[in-house]
Amino acid sequence: MKFLPEASLRACNTLRLEARARYLCEALSTEDIGRGLVFAREKKMPLLLLGEGSNVVLPPVFDGLVMRIRNQGEELIESSAQRIVVRVAAGVPWHAFVLDCHRRGWHGLENLALIPGTVGAAPMQNIGAYGVEISRFVQEVYVLDRRSGEPVTLSREDCGFAYRHSVFKDAQRERLAISAVTFELPLGQPPCIDYPALRAELQGCADPGPDEVLAAVIRIRTRRLPDPARLPNAGSFFKNPIIDAAPFEVLRAREPELVFWPYQGRFKLAAAWLVDQAGWKGFRKHEVGVHAEQALVLVNYGCADAARLLELAQQIRASVLARFGVKLEIEPAVY
Ligand code: FAD
Ligand code: NAP
Repeated sequence: MKFLPEASLRACNTLRLEARARYLCEALSTEDIGRGLVFAREKKMPLLLLGEGSNVVLPPVFDGLVMRIRNQGEELIESSAQRIVVRVAAGVPWHAFVLDCHRRGWHGLENLALIPGTVGAAPMQNIGAYGVEISRFVQEVYVLDRRSGEPVTLSREDCGFAYRHSVFKDAQRERLAISAVTFELPLGQPPCIDYPALRAELQGCADPGPDEVLAAVIRIRTRRLPDPARLPNAGSFFKNPIIDAAPFEVLRAREPELVFWPYQGRFKLAAAWLVDQAGWKGFRKHEVGVHAEQALVLVNYGCADAARLLELAQQIRASVLARFGVKLEIEPAVY
């Protein structure tokens, strides 16, 4: 495995932020991941793991080792009439895995089609879209302890999955390197089509099955979401805030147009609505801005670095807090 010194990271993040690493390497196997851990440990350098860089804000200089996780492969652990259990290497592209499962008749992941990134990064924020989260399919996550290099297996319960969250995102962020994930896909389940945008797209389709759901999700996403290859972005920059009933009632009385959904005894607010109402949709200054149709998507229009982007994010957060008393949390991992 090669350790490239003084490497540019611009091509390694979908925001195309200007960033450099002291060393950059690509791990093509689990053994390579172990080698990277040893390299960083021996040189006493910080370590940053990357999949496709579609959910990160990279600093202008990372004075350590950046390791791109690219290990490939899969192992079929169980195939019965009831379920499929499959173990997939962390470096496999997520969407390719979704398409592969669909092709083989292993259904359930169709709602999560076209999400950028790798299988290994998917548990980090419990990726979700169109009413489905991966936590319902994850059986085990295989990790290497970054300090000892020891392999550890985490059960679904160990992962602490929540809305766009897991233990990997905070408590274990600096401790674990995910090398593979095992998914359990129950067979013969009806597709999940309750999400309003998906239901609307499937209108006129009498009995939508997995083929129709996959095609509909791909159509909506292609139509609505800016392609990072053409307009560098990291998807939603802010999470939908979830607040308690008491502050919710106060806010709703003041803002009758508030967009929200009941969520496990609390209330999930539409972050996009808050940002839009605060006047940011379509805003652009220098080389950063807020997408004109997707208020949650911050865009790098040129050669911005993290400071410029985070300054804009901070201004948005401050104005939403001042106007609605709601704190927005940044979704991508900021380094
Ligand atoms: P990266 O951005 O490379 O990394 C993200 C975090 O995971 C970092 O902290 C990194 O250190 C860590 N990490 C990566 N790999 C590993 C590993 N093997 N072991 C340990 N840590 C690791 N997200 C959704 O939930 N739903 C969506 O619908 C969605 N749509 C998106 C649409 C667009 C256009 C874009 C740009 C992003 C979207 N995202 C969405 C966000 C993003 O695609 C996901 O979070 C994805 O899982 C990130 O994968 P990645 O490989 O790019 O991770
Ligand atoms: P959309 O369908 O117009 O929805 C916008 C927001 O409203 C989403 O954040 C979604 O929450 C919420 N929402 C809509 N209907 C809901 C319902 N019935 N119950 C609960 N929440 C509801 O927006 P979109 O931007 O095109 O996104 C479509 C899907 O892709 C969403 O699930 C979104 O999360 C996902 N996506 C995520 C990212 C990312 O980077 N995280 C980027 C693009 C798209 P949820 O986010 O909880 O679904």
